[in-house]
Amino acid sequence: MKQENLIHANYHTHTVRCHHAEGSEREYVEEAIKAGLTTLGFADHTPYIFHTKGYYSSFRMRPEELEGYVQVLRALQEEYKDRISILIGLEAEHYPALWQDYCKLIKNSGVQYLIMGQHFAAGEPGGKYSGRADDDEERLKSYVDSVIGGAQTGLFSYVAHPDIINFTGDHDLYLAEMERLVQGVVKEGLPLELNILGLREGRSYPREDFLELVGKHHGKMIIGSDAHTPEHVYDHETVRRAVALAEKYGIELTERIDTTRLQRLL
Ligand SMILES: [Zn+2]
Ligand SMILES: [Zn+2]
Repeated sequence: MKQENLIHANYHTHTVRCHHAEGSEREYVEEAIKAGLTTLGFADHTPYIFHTKGYYSSFRMRPEELEGYVQVLRALQEEYKDRISILIGLEAEHYPALWQDYCKLIKNSGVQYLIMGQHFAAGEPGGKYSGRADDDEERLKSYVDSVIGGAQTGLFSYVAHPDIINFTGDHDLYLAEMERLVQGVVKEGLPLELNILGLREGRSYPREDFLELVGKHHGKMIIGSDAHTPEHVYDHETVRRAVALAEKYGIELTERIDTTRLQRLL
């Protein structure tokens, strides 16, 4: 008997443009249809306009690739419109110093939604990777500040792997800061992601002490596959574990995102 899929939408899908994903966009779409998804959102690592001359981030598409990204996905949207709804998004960092230029870059690009992934809260180049184990209290606080600030821009549709910050110092401080994050994001009406890639690979996220805070403050969560390869668009066993974790902490799961937010740029 065919297994019943546990979710019907995934908004966190990468493409080869980020230099650490594989497969064609079409293969991701075909896998999603096979798995029974009705909505597939691509949110590849966004291009950024950096002020540091000559700097290109190694894990994201280049600005000049954005147009082709949108074109390829628009063609698939049209071709597959009777079988699956395809959305064009980006996974972006909220870097306040670069934010104005960033908004200009995506304003008329055809991108429909943004998810926030703060891989380097202190910016690039030079910032430390959020997922690296570290007891730096300032890094934790600046991570929380930048996520809340991003939520307050009103342009993001959800927060990807909100618990990526891998703080190994004082646990009470961790809980206080992450409680501040959850409350700040919930206040803006944004869902938080339960990240399937982290769960499958046993990364430091998702963290149960974080999920407990989400449950306590009635945050909504959205399961995001964070697929970097087509077969991970829907990973049934890991999604099952994520659903069980949400249940354990009394967290309401949602499959909807607000895709009207970027219209505020127009
Ligand atoms: Zn990635
Ligand atoms: Zn990410």
